[in-house]
Amino acid sequence: MDKHRQGHRETLIQPQHHDRDKERQRIAGPAHCPGCDAYFDAGRWSWQRPAAGQPETVTCPACRRIADNDAAGNVALSGGFVRNHREELLNLIRNTEDAERREHALERLIGISEEEGKMMVATTGPHLANRIGHALEAAYDGAVKYTYTDNETHLDVTWQRD
Ligand SMILES: [Zn+2]
Repeated sequence: MDKHRQGHRETLIQPQHHDRDKERQRIAGPAHCPGCDAYFDAGRWSWQRPAAGQPETVTCPACRRIADNDAAGNVALSGGFVRNHREELLNLIRNTEDAERREHALERLIGISEEEGKMMVATTGPHLANRIGHALEAAYDGAVKYTYTDNETHLDVTWQRD
């Protein structure tokens, strides 16, 4: 995505040494995830069933992140606007996920939590968090900040509008 678009402040923080071994799981041939029906073939996960080969059963990285509640992206929405436009914002987040997930099988919502007029979105991939941030800006302006951490494998987005 266009994380280098002009006008966005980005802060790179020293990478944290989280265990990413499960991202590097080796899969020999075609695979199928029973949790979400994604297929692995030629080095990537998608919704496309491989033309050849009998897929082995492997839980995909997105389903593992959801099961472990291990977010690779977070979006925090705050400000009076959030309190007054809750349904619109939830719809925008869910529609953005639908579009992103169709293109990228591993980019999904883990969950949306709400507390004291704030909304916290957790995603399985940084691209979805990025896309939600841009969708919020495009639809509602507001102040947005993108912070990549963990060797740019994790993205924190804050969006604020009063
Ligand atoms: Zn899956």
